Amino acid sequence: MLEHKVNEFFGDDDPTGFGTGWWSGVLSAFFGILAFGAVVCLHFPQLLSSPELRPHYPMDLMRMLIQGVIVGAVVLGVVSAVLRRKKVLGFTGMLFALGAALLGGANVEINEPLHDGMAIGLDWFLLDMLLMTLIFSPIEVLWPAYPKQSVFRPEWLLDVVYFLSTHLPIRITTIMILLPATQLVNMLGNAGLQGAVGSLPWPVQFFLAVLVADLAEYWIHRALHELPWLWRFHAIHHSSKALDWIAGSRAHLVDDVLIRGLMLIPMMFAFSQSIITAYLLFVTIHATWAHTNFGPSIKWLEPYLVFPRFHHWHHTSQKEAIDKNYAIHFPWIDKLFGTYYFPDDRWPDHYGLDNEPIPAGFWGQAFYPFTRWRAA
Ligand SMILES: [Zn+2]
Ligand SMILES: [Zn+2]
Repeated sequence: MLEHKVNEFFGDDDPTGFGTGWWSGVLSAFFGILAFGAVVCLHFPQLLSSPELRPHYPMDLMRMLIQGVIVGAVVLGVVSAVLRRKKVLGFTGMLFALGAALLGGANVEINEPLHDGMAIGLDWFLLDMLLMTLIFSPIEVLWPAYPKQSVFRPEWLLDVVYFLSTHLPIRITTIMILLPATQLVNMLGNAGLQGAVGSLPWPVQFFLAVLVADLAEYWIHRALHELPWLWRFHAIHHSSKALDWIAGSRAHLVDDVLIRGLMLIPMMFAFSQSIITAYLLFVTIHATWAHTNFGPSIKWLEPYLVFPRFHHWHHTSQKEAIDKNYAIHFPWIDKLFGTYYFPDDRWPDHYGLDNEPIPAGFWGQAFYPFTRWRAA
């Protein structure tokens, strides 16, 4: 397995706490790869950057960010190489940073006029990865629910591939979801309702949007569990044996498209594009957070707002919580429909699927729902 080789190549038996050169090495390699990817984007903007994002980039700031990431990779790489016996992490970061600098670094000019058309959203993938890592990794390292769980737990690389697979072709997935939904809403008409909702204060509109979306998501999610032909797709999301923020991105494409696409239909009846966009941003962050390996909670708020512990119970393989906790924002929706399971203060002991062997690799999982079909 590739993951085994990666772990073997970069890992060693030395301790991984602060001050051992482990974190500086990991960050150096991460920053180095980001910097290299960003400079490659500057060289091939037509092919690699998302047409939707291009007009919105503050390029001076982006170039400063790229410069900062290059310098960060080198400094952290040196620190790691000094502190750690095995130098490969730090050297990897420095090598990528050096490569980025040799390719012209942050100063590469964009000379060609850019036009719309097919593009691989590498820029979006890199930015998203950086942002998500900056938000979620520190809280998992500082306040984990499961302190023994490593960032590089088994199958971590598989989940990075899932993150890549949903974020790289973002245009294709967005078109697959948005186009049918808008078409349907255009057919059915909704101006009166939209006008009424639009006259409410923005926070009220936003709260209503989260509520409508979660009610829709509840029933779509429940159908994914209760209808056997849909479960085959959703089983992939439940195959994670340990949860953290990146495990949340493991989902079959059909699962993703169904949830996002069907949830958008009731949203489009009532809410403006700006509210929907704000909601999509919110759900990305809240749903990712619900999967994090993050222990702290606000006890009185837990029954009203989903905290990681609530969604972790949705992922357990323990019998008492199977097919429970479908909501992704408001736990009381589950209470309302009789699928609420939330024991005081406890976290599950086991995750994943006990009675359903899921193939280990990305492609095996992509075809898994269809092979089950044939066998049935
Ligand atoms: Zn589920
Ligand atoms: Zn989940």
